[in-house]
Amino acid sequence: MTRVLIRKGIYDQEKMRRVAGEMLDEMGPEKVAYGDKVLIKPNLLMAAEPDKGIVTHPMLTRAVAEYFLDRGARVQVSDSPAVSNFDKIIRIAGYKEILKGLDVKLTQFQESVDVDIGEPFGSIPISRDALEADAVINLAKLKTHAQMYLTLGVKNIFGCIVGLRKPEWHMRSGVDRMIFAQLLVQIYEAVAPAYTIVDAVLALEGQGPGKGGQSRHLGLLIGGENAHAVDKTIATLLGLEPAQVLTCLNALKLSLFDGKVHVDGDLHIINDFKFPELNSLSMGPESLNSFMRKYVIQKPVAESKSCKLCGECWTICPAKAITHNNRTIYFKYDKCIRCYCCIEVCPHAAIRAKEPLLGYIWRRYIKS
Ligand code: SF4
Ligand code: SF4
Repeated sequence: MTRVLIRKGIYDQEKMRRVAGEMLDEMGPEKVAYGDKVLIKPNLLMAAEPDKGIVTHPMLTRAVAEYFLDRGARVQVSDSPAVSNFDKIIRIAGYKEILKGLDVKLTQFQESVDVDIGEPFGSIPISRDALEADAVINLAKLKTHAQMYLTLGVKNIFGCIVGLRKPEWHMRSGVDRMIFAQLLVQIYEAVAPAYTIVDAVLALEGQGPGKGGQSRHLGLLIGGENAHAVDKTIATLLGLEPAQVLTCLNALKLSLFDGKVHVDGDLHIINDFKFPELNSLSMGPESLNSFMRKYVIQKPVAESKSCKLCGECWTICPAKAITHNNRTIYFKYDKCIRCYCCIEVCPHAAIRAKEPLLGYIWRRYIKS
């Protein structure tokens, strides 16, 4: 049975060092030996201050880096944001400042190595640094996600796909959330992190995972050796069925996880966490697909007043479904695969997922 630890967390460097250190001690730090290369993978989605609940808090990353430095490891901290400038992200997220003075390499993933992650995806490019590390430490953030409902431990490892190749893989897995979840699971298994800690001191609820969400204080760190077990525990904590976290469901189906978890800590159910509303992307007959995509299924919409025409959304869009003039942006909904990368990257929270009225009527009164 896989053990998952739930501990109280606070953004205070000394307390964070103590709690994260105790968690790693309890998980069994023997996976890392003196001189080993340790790769810490936080969630550095975008240039956002730590108090926005969007990035893994730098105090947790520092605490974990110090823990492994004290054990004689060589420590690197890396992620691969899809579009934003890495230097800007680490400055605004407080990483540059907090890791100053530590013998830590802070750099974005650059090179990839093709790895066969199994059917149906075959060979895909994963960061060389992550694959060649002796141990990957997965420091995820508890956030809602307009496409996948939640982003937790397993999904954080998708960041090991380098930069602009991420939306390309979103595109290849199409509009099917289950297939995308399977892709996430198989990438997680290929990278095989030694430990996962999810930063849920300040989580993100609502229309996450970017600036459309709202930070929510939960005051928790949740960790274990197996991210499937960690994610399952978080689903329970938030009052969900584990199968609602599609990576969890996939891991169970693929027999990569037996679903048995021993929770060590206070599993106090949170009943009022705000989730994004999702609806099916593939309902209705094939011939009506274009109509459904425009008028029925949930879609990204932009607030013209907030949009600064910065270009990050149309740069990242894997389906090339966003156009613009000199005043606003437009979506081609029949092309859009609803990956919500545009919501993730928008630095001005100008895009949100919206269900059309017809979709609401369909879902509430016709489909069921
Ligand atoms: S919607 Fe957001 S990301 Fe897209 S151009 Fe406007 S401000 Fe930039
Ligand atoms: S418009 Fe947004 S949600 Fe649609 S495919 Fe492009 S990035 Fe994804």
